[in-house]
Amino acid sequence: MEENCIFCKIARGDISSATLYEDEDFRVILDLGPASKGHALILPKKHAANLFELPDETAQKALVLAKRIGGTLKEGLHADGLNLVQNNGAAAGQTVDHFHIHLIPRYQGDTVNVKWQPGELGEEDKEEILKLFR
Ligand code: AMP
Ligand code: ZN
Repeated sequence: MEENCIFCKIARGDISSATLYEDEDFRVILDLGPASKGHALILPKKHAANLFELPDETAQKALVLAKRIGGTLKEGLHADGLNLVQNNGAAAGQTVDHFHIHLIPRYQGDTVNVKWQPGELGEEDKEEILKLFR
């Protein structure tokens, strides 16, 4: 538990939230500023600032949970698709420094924006990146 972390307080139930699911490791809540109908957040109860601080076991469970809750949202709300979004660092759009996965149901023709302008994979970049994994 981090002193001033809003998601710690929500995950522990100190601050009330529209909770869709809860177990000993997670709370899943509706986002207060939804990108679309059904936009939900998976919050681990134990504080981790981001993906890189999250224990592997929790990371594994989180994706299984995303599949389950995302499936119920998609089916129940008759959505046409679903985005998982998970931001790490301010540069990546993270505004709350407590790991969370966004579940964003998508509807044909909606105006949700999870897109980028495709660039081009240059030879230099490609070599530099491949080298990291050799
Ligand atoms: P991110 O930009 O990935 O850090 O996402 C933070 C998300 O948390 C945003 O979609 C906010 O709308 C949402 N949010 C912030 N405070 C609350 C809150 N008290 N209850 C529910 N959702 C929240
Ligand atoms: Zn926290």
